[in-house]
Amino acid sequence: STEEEEVVLPTVFRVALCGGTHGNELSGVYLVRERLKRKRKVEEEDHIYVVTVMSNPRAVQQCRRYTETDLNRCFTHATLSGPVTDKTPYEIVRSQELNTLLGPKGSPEAMDLVCDLHNTTANMGLCLIAYSDCDWISLHIYRYLQMSDIPVRFIHFDLPLNEAYSLDSVGKHGFAIEIGPQAHGVVRSNILSTMQEGVQHMLEWIHLFNSGTQFEGGKVDVYTMVKNVDYPRDFETRGITAAIHPQLQDRDFCLLRPNDPVFQTFSGETLKYKGTEPLYPFFINECAYYEKGIALSLARQRSVGIPSIRSEREGEQRKRKSSAEEMEEEEEIKGEMEEEGYQKLIEYGEESDSLNGQYN
Ligand SMILES: [Zn+2]
Repeated sequence: STEEEEVVLPTVFRVALCGGTHGNELSGVYLVRERLKRKRKVEEEDHIYVVTVMSNPRAVQQCRRYTETDLNRCFTHATLSGPVTDKTPYEIVRSQELNTLLGPKGSPEAMDLVCDLHNTTANMGLCLIAYSDCDWISLHIYRYLQMSDIPVRFIHFDLPLNEAYSLDSVGKHGFAIEIGPQAHGVVRSNILSTMQEGVQHMLEWIHLFNSGTQFEGGKVDVYTMVKNVDYPRDFETRGITAAIHPQLQDRDFCLLRPNDPVFQTFSGETLKYKGTEPLYPFFINECAYYEKGIALSLARQRSVGIPSIRSEREGEQRKRKSSAEEMEEEEEIKGEMEEEGYQKLIEYGEESDSLNGQYN
């Protein structure tokens, strides 16, 4: 079985830690801002290069989710390879810049791991959201977080890479860290601390993995997204005619069974779940999803076997390199990161003139 196998994987050397992809999700904004203040923009930790990125500085400055279009929907193959003109929305231009610097998506040059920090108004606790349920790196990080005392869940969006639309899909491995409940535009210390702890444990895991630690196989629970449910709407105006039912509000990841209440109409009527399969609700009443027509999402829970993993030792790489060559390569990567405009990439708050000039 999968749990008894041992898989040897390349080290996770270049890591991007991104926040402010949504400009009003303030845990990630402040976590990133603090790291940028405290340390060099490209950090050299033990066996890891971490680049810290403020993804959407213009939206952060305005404390809005986005300025023209949702940045975190722009990382599909189609949008990343589309033409850019004077009229192209800021976020599309920005997604292509981020793809150049952290990707290109799907290429060998891409970051080994992209971790993108988000908040939700839903009562979801800490979740990792990813596009794969067989990425052993992400699933082992998930299990490592579970073993610390942070309750954490893993949500799997079953989409092929070229359709994957969020920033974390640019890396070779990647996931969003989503934490709630927190209102957008608000920073709550308990939520920020949980995010900081999660990030710290993730970096700790990467450090251990890169230095040769073997991680045992086992089983983890994964929530695979099944469908979104919209609000009941007025046929003509398309305005919503009901709110989430009080018995469902804040009950993210509590099993929803057929005939359980889902909505309460504004005239007081209860609307029930008409599905036949019990499923797990999440993103219940997420503020930013009213415009997307999503009142809640539903997932199926599954147990996934993960193999034991460790990183390649020297000599195990397909093309063996001498350690002198390796060190040279590390230096090169570091040099490139500094030269290729990471400085511009991570600007925040006050936008750089070039950004203003280009997109206003
Ligand atoms: Zn977000």
